Amino acid sequence: MNLGFTDKLVELVMAIPKIELHLHLEGAIPLETLFNLIQSQGKDTSIKNLNDLRKKLTYIDFAHFIEIWIWKNSFIQQEKDFEPIAYQVLASLSKQNVKYVEAFYSPGDYFKQGMSTPGITEYLIKGKQKAYHDFGIQSELILDVIRGDGIEIAMQRLKQVTPYLGKGVIGIGLGGSEQKYPAAPYVSVYQEAKERGFRLTAHAGEAAGAESIWTVIEKLGVERIGHGFRAYEDPKLLARLKQKQIPLEMCLISNLRTGVCPSLDVHPIKQYFKQGLMVTVNSDDPTMFNTNISQEYLALVQKLGFTIKDLKRLSLNSIKASFLSEPNKQIMKSRFEKEWQQILNEYRVEDKEKSGGTSRIIF
Ligand SMILES: [Zn+2]
Repeated sequence: MNLGFTDKLVELVMAIPKIELHLHLEGAIPLETLFNLIQSQGKDTSIKNLNDLRKKLTYIDFAHFIEIWIWKNSFIQQEKDFEPIAYQVLASLSKQNVKYVEAFYSPGDYFKQGMSTPGITEYLIKGKQKAYHDFGIQSELILDVIRGDGIEIAMQRLKQVTPYLGKGVIGIGLGGSEQKYPAAPYVSVYQEAKERGFRLTAHAGEAAGAESIWTVIEKLGVERIGHGFRAYEDPKLLARLKQKQIPLEMCLISNLRTGVCPSLDVHPIKQYFKQGLMVTVNSDDPTMFNTNISQEYLALVQKLGFTIKDLKRLSLNSIKASFLSEPNKQIMKSRFEKEWQQILNEYRVEDKEKSGGTSRIIF
């Protein structure tokens, strides 16, 4: 079969060794798995096939997205549902050559359905261990502290997951409405998490501006920023992000779907990357946003003119930005370098000098 340029490019982005640092497990449930969950309960007869479900997962605005998010969660009825969810999410990532994932999970969303944080955590750990056994994909969990829930509940959840720290859980994140609930009140939760040995990240600069990013850096002491999209509003912030090499967990297609970014060709990721910020590529809620990490890499090439070598740098950035230990980062780096060498050979990617400015694939 003679593959065209786009097919060849798709094949190449699938082959890239990848890491996901910003992925919500419940937003990544493969479409078929979600469809089966819906069917098994027979609660929503309007979803008759995968096409109906795909159509349901389109949004007129952010409020509508939240409404559909809650609708989707209503089909997760028992703690044990989380085991196949973790397994299937990791299976689908493994097919795209994702080697390692640091995934958010939000146990607070299921409290009303009578599920407990430790119960959900245990089933997720079982699912991820099974995925590691079957596919060799490594993963860690990040507890998503929901802004609207308040300090007391956040602290309680932190305590509940502490026994799993180092046994499947690696850190905490801060999700929920950034506009309605500023991060500053969560200082005590982040201090406590740090003392307990959790790694720290927080969504910021997505629905709110540069000030929100300053808060999570200076007050919460985060090691990474979830999104950081609106950092461009403040040149001093850009300088700080660059100087300290604070990683940005960027998610292009999510920003487009939620209306944070009007069009991919004006997404600031290119500017940040060129300025030397520590940029990483991620998919956020791939099923909900009809994307996946390979699509994200593809969009960088097609919409923003990233070269293949830029993609290599981005994939290596994800190792640096991860919460892996230093020795494990070194192991991961040599795996990535080896696979990249094969990719560059197989697709015979010319370097910039030879092709006059941009890397290109030769057929
Ligand atoms: Zn997110």
